[in-house]
Amino acid sequence: NSALYIVATPIGNLGDMSQRAVEILQQVALIAAEDTRHSARLLQHYAVSTPCVALHEHNEREQSSRLLQRLANGESVALISDAGTPLLSDPGFHLVQQARQQGIRVVPVPGPSAVIAALSVSGLPTDCFKFIGFLPAKSVARRQRLAALAAESCTLAFYESPHRIVESLTDMAHELGAARAAVLARELTKTFETVRSGTLAELGEFVSSDPNQQKGEIVVLVEGAPAVESALDAEAERVLGILLAELP
Ligand code: SAM
Repeated sequence: NSALYIVATPIGNLGDMSQRAVEILQQVALIAAEDTRHSARLLQHYAVSTPCVALHEHNEREQSSRLLQRLANGESVALISDAGTPLLSDPGFHLVQQARQQGIRVVPVPGPSAVIAALSVSGLPTDCFKFIGFLPAKSVARRQRLAALAAESCTLAFYESPHRIVESLTDMAHELGAARAAVLARELTKTFETVRSGTLAELGEFVSSDPNQQKGEIVVLVEGAPAVESALDAEAERVLGILLAELP
C-alpha cells in the first residue's frame, strides 16, 4: 500500500522531530529532499539511511514524474524540505497535485512550521490569518503587494530574509500604517530566539538599530486592518435613524 508522505522536519531545534517522522523516513524506499546535502546531516542525526534524491524548484517537474512512476510501481516516497513543512514556501506543490490527480495516497506527517510557531506565541488574533510567505524582492513590487493587503482584516503572516528585513518593515509601515501592531519572530526554537511585539514603526526601529536583529530566520506577523463599517451599513443606519424619528 504505497503512499507519498509529506514529512515536516525541525525549523532549528532537532528535538522537534516527531517519532513518526523518523519511522516513516526509515521505512520509505526513497526520500525526495530540497537539498540532499543539507538533509544528509539531518537524516544521519536520526539514523535514517534511506536513499535521497533532490527535488527543488528547478527540477520539480521532471523529478516529480520519476517519483510518480516509482509510486505507481508500489514504492513509498517521502518528501522533506530544508526546514519545517514542505510546500509552505517550499517545493512540492506540483508533486502533490499530480499525485492526487493520479489517485496516489498522499499522507501528511505533520510537525513544525515557522508560521504556526510564530502565530502560537504572537498574541495576535489567530482565528483568521492570511499566509503571504515571501514578499517580492524589488521595492516597487513589494509596495504594490502590501498596498493590496492594506484593507485585509485577518492577521498577515510574512516570511522574510535577513537581508531585506529592514526594507520590508519600512515598506510595511508605509503601506499598512506605522501604528499597526505587529510581531517579529526570529530564530524560533534556536539559541537566539526572539519574539518582539510593537507597532510596525517600533519594530523597524528595533531591527535597524541592532544588526544582531537582522540575522537569522524571521517571521513577521501584522495585525489585520480594523473592520470598517461598510458604506451600505452607514447608509442603512442613517435611514433607520430618520424612520425612527418619524415614529409616534
Ligand atoms: N517550510 C518552512 C516552514 O514550514 O516554516 C519554511 C521554509 S521558507 C523557505 C524559510 C523561511 O521560513 C525563512 O526565511 C523564515 O522566514 C521562516 N523560518 C524558517 N525557520 C524559522 C525559524 N526557526 N524562525 C523564524 N522563521 C523561520
